[in-house]
Amino acid sequence: MTTAEIKDMASKYIINTYGERSISIVRGEGAYVWDAEGKKYLDFVAGIATNNVGHCHPRVVEAIVAQARKLIHVSNLYYIEPQARLAKRLVEVSFADKCFFCNSGAEANEAAIKLARKYSKENVAESKFEIITMLKSFHGRTMTTITATGQPKYHKGFEPMSPGFKYVPFSDLKALEDAVTDNTCAIMVEPIQAEGGINMPIEDYLAGIRSLCDRKNLVLIFDEVQTAMGRLGKLFGYEVFGVEPDIITMAKALGGGAPIGCMMTKDHIAESLTPGSHASTFGGNPLVCSAALASLNTIIDEKLPENAQLVGAYLMEKLRSLKSKFSVIKEVRGRGLLIGMELNVEGKELVSKCMKAGLILNCIGSSIIRFAPPLVISQQHVDEAIPVIESGLADL
Ligand code: PLP
Repeated sequence: MTTAEIKDMASKYIINTYGERSISIVRGEGAYVWDAEGKKYLDFVAGIATNNVGHCHPRVVEAIVAQARKLIHVSNLYYIEPQARLAKRLVEVSFADKCFFCNSGAEANEAAIKLARKYSKENVAESKFEIITMLKSFHGRTMTTITATGQPKYHKGFEPMSPGFKYVPFSDLKALEDAVTDNTCAIMVEPIQAEGGINMPIEDYLAGIRSLCDRKNLVLIFDEVQTAMGRLGKLFGYEVFGVEPDIITMAKALGGGAPIGCMMTKDHIAESLTPGSHASTFGGNPLVCSAALASLNTIIDEKLPENAQLVGAYLMEKLRSLKSKFSVIKEVRGRGLLIGMELNVEGKELVSKCMKAGLILNCIGSSIIRFAPPLVISQQHVDEAIPVIESGLADL
């Protein structure tokens, strides 16, 4: 089908939650994708920080094909070997002792919210229910996770929101301390706010939250849906900041492109989720767990976090040198291969110019260009992208 044919069919039959799109991607390999007309693009969005091992990594493809031949789905009423293997590997490489599998970032956060409440009610005080999150955060699109999301634009039209949430500005430890009450059970925060604009925490902010949680007996939840799996230069974002949460949530890059979410925590907290208290039909299904295990092992074996650190630093340096040339660039910030370039003007035009020239970028809000390429990119890919961006900026 041509892009025009796909667009017509999609517009007729799919609810319009994503708006008009300029291309239809039909194939991918490594850092590149091809559209329906065969045009090649360098993908610096990677499924929004999802294709960390690149498109169709052979190890992920092989794992999916082999598992699909054996068993695609079976209920959690039975033990699932790929699920047990994935959980073991995730525990080996993280601070956590136990996993709960689901299908998306929003569901991983729902699980974290449910667990934080139940654990706190059972172990701290029955009055505990309130969760503090940050303004400009993003935690998902279910009713409770949009409530947790500290951005009123996502709430509009869906009121009433779920009870029990409070928001404070990101990187403001004093506001956070002041917001804690006897009813507070948890603090939920992204180590770096991604959808909210690639907002970096001020120094010692996360360590400050950790110590506040310890003092007040609160559960600390890190939403690492976008930052885990090597993107920030370590396997998990919490390692970059040297602060361990009590609960971590992941999704996006965990499955190497297959839809999977996971919440992980320590044993003593995990005990509050007992048989029947939480579940998911597809959560931890054999197919996605095989894909995720292959992806996780690839990230570790190919040293992709280290590559994200190296190539990320190179990309950052190149973007900062563009900033000294173009006054339209307000700031370049980020960590590893999660970088935001904030403009003084709308970003749509730059994104569309780069797209025409074969480079896929994404704009958060109205003016922040997000760089979240696959972690397999090299300096050569950056050298290919920078002249395209430079020429787009010159035209603005
Ligand atoms: N949390 C964060 C930090 C995210 O960036 C996202 C998605 O962008 C989510 C949660 C929601 O994940 P999903 O779209 O898989 O539900």
